[in-house]
Amino acid sequence: MKQFRQYASLFLFSASVLALTACSPKGTPEAKQETKQEVAPETVHQNVITLDTHVDIPLNYMTEAMDPGTGTDAQVDLAKMDVGGLDAAFFIVYTPQTNILEVTAENTKYAKAREIAETRFTAIHKLTKTYADRIELAKTADDVRRIHKSGKKVALIGMENAFPLGASVEDVPMWAARGVRYMGITHMGHNQFGDSSNPKTQWGETESMYGGLSALGKELVIALNKAGIMVDVSHAGKTTMMQATAMSSVPVIASHSGVMGVAKSLRNLDDEQLTAIAANGGVAQMVALGSYVKALTPAQEKFKTDVRIKMGLETDAKLFSSSPEVIGKYFKALEEVYDIDAKANVVDFVNHIDHVVKIAGIDHVGIASDFDGGGGITGWQDASETLNITKELLKRGYSEAEIEKIWGGNLLRVLQAVQDGAEY
Ligand SMILES: [Zn+2]
Repeated sequence: MKQFRQYASLFLFSASVLALTACSPKGTPEAKQETKQEVAPETVHQNVITLDTHVDIPLNYMTEAMDPGTGTDAQVDLAKMDVGGLDAAFFIVYTPQTNILEVTAENTKYAKAREIAETRFTAIHKLTKTYADRIELAKTADDVRRIHKSGKKVALIGMENAFPLGASVEDVPMWAARGVRYMGITHMGHNQFGDSSNPKTQWGETESMYGGLSALGKELVIALNKAGIMVDVSHAGKTTMMQATAMSSVPVIASHSGVMGVAKSLRNLDDEQLTAIAANGGVAQMVALGSYVKALTPAQEKFKTDVRIKMGLETDAKLFSSSPEVIGKYFKALEEVYDIDAKANVVDFVNHIDHVVKIAGIDHVGIASDFDGGGGITGWQDASETLNITKELLKRGYSEAEIEKIWGGNLLRVLQAVQDGAEY
């Protein structure tokens, strides 16, 4: 799954040749150019709560093969969080989906999705139980602050893709009670709740299936508001996102997205979307996933096209119907695009933050790694390198108070507002 998602990130969203031509100068005001070098990044990093809103976990999480309490090759484990000063993370209950056109309420595919969601949810609980002296589950903004003060790491739970809810929103209160604090409406491909930013063309999906949210999707937004779960619009199509943001009675989040103003990608938010999030009081968490952070240059696009033609994989349908070996070979060949132009780095990443600040304001931006789900850029390859983000923010002239907002203050404000608006 992880491998597929990495592939997908490399491949699906880099189709634009507009590349970096839209790259604007830093969005920081003149006054901020004055770098306060006397402020030690380590001190600022220590003073603020660093909260990453998107950390994926594999299906074998908290088994002997993948125990984050011991040294792992995962991008996030407890030791790497310690080294990098990452205080809090949303661990993700992610569920892939089947072809929505084939799914019916009685279909066992929802049952399979529920099983996968259950496995990941159980693993996150096992993490906080097994390592109770090092990490604790937070269900509220106050919990996050209290646990952080106690010196422990903070775990929160986000659900990526509402697909496992099935054909109703009945399970929403159950997930709220179990600690899920945000829920993504869609993932890759349209689901029963709405249009995705990335239709599954290999399943014959076109850009829109519902014109945004489905009727059930509208029920979902209401149910999430009632339950005190943040509505997550990352992965949702623009119309879906705009409708959900307009409908939601409380602020929404984009748990892990980039911005179009810096890199063209179907997964990124344009300025109209950022303005809508700001008006709604929400927050857009910038994601450190390479192809969303920095789009391929025209030369890289050409290289990719050439590779696809050479391998007979001109269309998405052809690629996804290929064997894992062929797909593996394709992505290995594609790695050479980075000989043409470097991968995204921390400077590119913070350009996204600057852009949100410029368009939406300092109160509406945050940070998400997407580690262990395709995320990772040069300079922030895993949780142990988290300090590099704070260093770059300081270099841009952000104050400690602003960095506190970016690193989690804004997100906690939204979480609080969503909880205050809940009906139970
Ligand atoms: Zn995602």
